[in-house]
Amino acid sequence: MWLSWRRSSRAEDRFESWITEQHQRRVLAGETTPSGPCPDEEFLRDLARKSKSIALSDPRIDHTANCRKCMSRLFELRGENRSRRRRTAFTAAITSCSLIAVLVAVAWYVTQRKAPSANTAVVAQTVNLWDAGTVRGEQPGQLKSVSLPAASVKLTIILPRHSEPGLYLVAITRDQNGNGVVAEGTSTTVANGEQQEITTSLDLRKAAAGPYFLSTTHEQDQAAYYYPLQIR
Ligand SMILES: [Zn+2]
Repeated sequence: MWLSWRRSSRAEDRFESWITEQHQRRVLAGETTPSGPCPDEEFLRDLARKSKSIALSDPRIDHTANCRKCMSRLFELRGENRSRRRRTAFTAAITSCSLIAVLVAVAWYVTQRKAPSANTAVVAQTVNLWDAGTVRGEQPGQLKSVSLPAASVKLTIILPRHSEPGLYLVAITRDQNGNGVVAEGTSTTVANGEQQEITTSLDLRKAAAGPYFLSTTHEQDQAAYYYPLQIR
């Protein structure tokens, strides 16, 4: 039942569109006689856009359906509408493509900035001076030399036993008199059990490999302590 109804419905659709085509052919061949005057361009534009403001009972529809001139114009306007819609869809596609391109570029840029290159990678290093004596003057040779890479270093120093808490100036110098400062930073001590730690960032990227000194100076003590250091 259902299937046969659907079949007949499709057949009806085909029959109706055949009637429509035959009618259009006759109209466009000038074989019909329209009633009343031709409507204005604006009405035809509305009709081409299938505007809902036009009532099917409007006599201008009946005229257009039988007037060769009006129907031709209607078909032209419909064609224009269709290509305009295609252009709009095309523009929208292009716009969304460029939007995607911009998003991809931004994402790439953000990723590049987040992932530092090898040259700007920060290397975390810890120097344990807990058992190190301190050198004032002449005896750096007694100490085991520590070593840092020529990089951006986030340096954590475990200060020697009995060091005072507080603010420290950390410096990498060419000699043990504080000359030739290569890098310096400040840090306040953080207690870790009975040890005092300081952490500071030192930019050693431009430092040539070789022997240096690591110095720590307490804000109140003012005396700098020097430890031999190698930059590799
Ligand atoms: Zn007409």
